[in-house]
Amino acid sequence: MGELRIHSVLVTGANRGIGLGLVRHFLGMPNPPKWVFAACRDPKGQRAQELQNLASKHPNLVIIPLEVTDTASIKAAADRVGEHLGGSGLTLLINNAGIAKPNSLDNETLEDMTEVYTTNTVGPLLLGQAFLPLLKKAAQGSPGSALSCSKAAIINMSSSAGSIEDPYLWNYGQAVSYRCSKAALNMLTKCQSLGYRQHGVLCVALHPGWVQTDMGASAGHTPPVTVDASVGGMLKVLSSLSEKDTGTFLDWEGKVVPW
Ligand code: NDP
Repeated sequence: MGELRIHSVLVTGANRGIGLGLVRHFLGMPNPPKWVFAACRDPKGQRAQELQNLASKHPNLVIIPLEVTDTASIKAAADRVGEHLGGSGLTLLINNAGIAKPNSLDNETLEDMTEVYTTNTVGPLLLGQAFLPLLKKAAQGSPGSALSCSKAAIINMSSSAGSIEDPYLWNYGQAVSYRCSKAALNMLTKCQSLGYRQHGVLCVALHPGWVQTDMGASAGHTPPVTVDASVGGMLKVLSSLSEKDTGTFLDWEGKVVPW
């Protein structure tokens, strides 16, 4: 397994849950990134308090305002990140922000299908487009041609709830809009891997496990995996990814998840 050497990373939905855990782990690495961009909807608000505390201790942490369903907000975030990076590129884009609605097959709605798809699927598409120039720059500035997360990568936080072959936790909740949005995110990941390979950008979909966050606990059960264990596992997986892994769907322990 290679060592993760990340010059810069942007995490969406970074103010709580898995996103905040990722930020903490990046800051605590023996070789921390030069820049950790933590994107959230309301950087100055109460919900970003933990990020603000971290930023006061870590000068390499930059909090970026980002609403992933708003194209103007995405463009402004890409411009801001570009300014911070000066002439260098962005190594890792982690599309982590997501929402879930508990709706069943019988009571799913147009509004919720649309909102969940826009956030979980269209957001990662638009972020990939907006940050591609910076990801390309990172790939061009990195030695060798082999794909890796230390060169340039897009990580899409998916879910095995979106697996068509093995729809995780169906008996705990149907969450139709959520499952459909993640199945579509998996296809987006495959498309990105095909389109961005020529630019040196690796793309994978990850299932983080069933994790102890607001979303993970929303159905009233205690999930088995802590944020720390999930994030630690995923970073290990990221450090092991190479050329052959682009366009795949893996879980936090590195196992292949069936599409
Ligand atoms: P949480 O509900 O704890 O956190 C979700 C994060 O996404 C928050 O930071 C939230 O910001 C942000 N977010 C939601 N909508 C938007 C938006 N429109 N624009 C910007 N940010 C937004 O979720 P988790 O940490 O549990 O989940 C993170 C990812 O992991 C998600 O993609 C989820 O689908 C996936 N996942 C989680 C599992 C689990 O068991 N927890 C299992 C499988 C996948 P705000 O505070 O402003 O609402």
